[in-house]
Amino acid sequence: MVTTHNLGFPRIGARRELKFGLESYWKGGATRAQLQQLGAGLRARHWRDQAALDLVPVGDFSFYDQVLDMSFTLGHLPARVSGFHGDMLDNYFRIARGRSAVGAEEHGSCCGGVAAGEMTKWFDTNYHYIVPEFDVGTQFKLDASRLLAQLAEARVQGVAAKPVIIGPLTYLALGKAKDGSDKLALLPRLLPVYAALLAALATEGADWVQIDEPILVTELDAAWQEAFTHAYQGLNTGAVKLLLATYFGQLQENLQLVAALPVQGVHLDAINARHEVEALIQASPAERVISLGVVNGRNIWKSNLEATLDWLEPVAQKLGERLWLAPSCALLHVPVDLESETKLDTEIRSWLAFAVQKLGEISVLAKALTQGRAAVAPELAANRAALAARRTSARVNNPAVQAAVAAITPALGRRQNPFAVRAAKQAAILNLPRFPTTTIGSFPQTREIRLARSAFKAGTINETAYREAMWREIAHSVREQEKLGLDVLVHGEAERNDMVEYFGEQLYGYAFSQAGWVQSYGSRCVKPPILFGDISRPKPMTVEWISYAAALTDKPMKGMLTGPVTILNWSFVRDDQPRSLTCSQLALAIRAEVQDLEGIGVRIIQIDEAALREGLPLRKSQWQDYLAWAVESFRITANGVRDETQIHTHMCYSEFNDIISEIAEMDADVITIETSRSDMELLDVFETFNYPNQIGPGVYDIHSPNIPDEAHIVALMQKAAERIPPERLWVNPDCGLKTRQWHEVIPALANLVSAARFLRAKAT
Ligand code: GLN
Ligand code: ZN
Repeated sequence: MVTTHNLGFPRIGARRELKFGLESYWKGGATRAQLQQLGAGLRARHWRDQAALDLVPVGDFSFYDQVLDMSFTLGHLPARVSGFHGDMLDNYFRIARGRSAVGAEEHGSCCGGVAAGEMTKWFDTNYHYIVPEFDVGTQFKLDASRLLAQLAEARVQGVAAKPVIIGPLTYLALGKAKDGSDKLALLPRLLPVYAALLAALATEGADWVQIDEPILVTELDAAWQEAFTHAYQGLNTGAVKLLLATYFGQLQENLQLVAALPVQGVHLDAINARHEVEALIQASPAERVISLGVVNGRNIWKSNLEATLDWLEPVAQKLGERLWLAPSCALLHVPVDLESETKLDTEIRSWLAFAVQKLGEISVLAKALTQGRAAVAPELAANRAALAARRTSARVNNPAVQAAVAAITPALGRRQNPFAVRAAKQAAILNLPRFPTTTIGSFPQTREIRLARSAFKAGTINETAYREAMWREIAHSVREQEKLGLDVLVHGEAERNDMVEYFGEQLYGYAFSQAGWVQSYGSRCVKPPILFGDISRPKPMTVEWISYAAALTDKPMKGMLTGPVTILNWSFVRDDQPRSLTCSQLALAIRAEVQDLEGIGVRIIQIDEAALREGLPLRKSQWQDYLAWAVESFRITANGVRDETQIHTHMCYSEFNDIISEIAEMDADVITIETSRSDMELLDVFETFNYPNQIGPGVYDIHSPNIPDEAHIVALMQKAAERIPPERLWVNPDCGLKTRQWHEVIPALANLVSAARFLRAKAT
């Protein structure tokens, strides 16, 4: 007998029901009872979707975020919401997003808006959680109501429930000590609350509890390792059996630590850490359950079932009833159900598995292990056929692309001359003032743009009409930039729905789902494009738009592209070759676009690498490898141009301390980064590291409707000038302006331009 289970199911709903329900509730449409009902309905449906499993996760559903849920369970809320009116759900949304529903905010003066909790990425995924806020006085108090209610709900529905919670060490590690105090010092206060929680779950009938400790796949210092041992000795009360879940990577030096913890089961990510299976079994006590994550919970491809069985069968022989099977991690990071994809190309569709299909694979594997492969012969044959078709498909394999990648040499990534030589030539041609002003690329995505786009999609206007509508928008943004007196203009990106999708749609090797939504945070979802084959560029992708815009002005017009690393990191990418190789293919395609832009006389080309940092592996020891190929891909993309062509790059963050030398190695002539919210503190790294090229530290926080005044911008730039020589500084916003409105953008940019003029006057 093999036990099948799941670590977590996507909660947003196959048709994003939760998103729409939440947004309606916040706007004052749906009532709280309706929202609660929607949640219960989604839970029930998702439990039915998982009914074939022996154990089903309960408590993985969330109205916003599982880490915030855990903060409520632990009675740990920021002081700023204490004493507010309304019920718990109101405070929950206040912390999550700064305000609750419209109806809940009638006490505007006493408990209206409040600063939202900080959000950050959940490990190396694109899911964002609400950061727990600690200080030296933090106290905890159990509130098990959410979990107990959902367990009761599950019991009524006959669900074989396994409650899921975040473990104490991961919870502490994910939080931030606002006063710089030691988070581990809180553990003695936290453990009794966890012990009480486990006891409460036992009372409600829980046999096993899944306790997630994904920080075990990261580097831990001695104090944290020690804390693990101490904590789990304390939680081993016998009230319930604990399944300690690790995922997103390998245990490595933490393996022995994990093996020695007094828990009844351990889940290992056997996709990323298959070679650790044997060692974990060896080091574990004889009766321990070993749960193996054998289906990738992070991608959308069918598993190779026979190859999995090849290594799994001997393990199953050894473990017998102690073997559990699951996806590698919670399925939160994949779309719900491939059945929703009615328009997806049938060939490509036959290669895919979303959450529901992945659980189907788990069941097939379990059946093969218990009854023999013959019992699932048709399923295995179908899987084999799908994989073979994918492997040999002419749409996946393009020999010309493979040959081009094989022919890449380091010379491809090198500029002809060092920065100083290039800079002089560029200055002579561009003739820009000191403190040149520019923007990051997009201008507001207006109602007109959205209407034209949906009319074109729906077929109510033809392509010509659509293009004309976009030209009008481009002409408008060029006119506005001229009026503002900006030095380097952009076309405004009106024609781009999304900075990755726009390029994906024009490249061979990409497919698009209709409903492949994945939660990014709260009600926000993304639909990553599916990169399935060798990447090639059938024709130029941006040249017509940029040349149209360039002809409207005498000012330099920046050409705008998305870089290969960002395209890679924001797509579902193939699993049949290394990411680095896929990235090289993207690099060659975008490089060709760079050269085409240069060919029509575009003198400044910006290649956005917004997502370069988020591709960093969880373990620092693996950073170098990633950075080496990521930086090389950028260099191949950017550096095939003449000295006179100025390359810009943009990144939506500025935590560069630990990767600054690699950023410098990209050798872009100009880099623009996000810094305004931190008052330029993020530029501290430039005090010790002498960044050689030009920099535009953002001085306008585009995430906020606030308009920075001239004095504020001047002050920020002066701070920047303390760290970076002023002759190498640009003046620009933090990021693109597409989420803002024209009436905000105009005064903000006017202040930006006048601030630059003030700085120039002062400098002379
Ligand atoms: N050029 C893009 C824009 O302005 C950059 C967006 C981003 O960095 N996320 O919108
Ligand atoms: Zn940005």
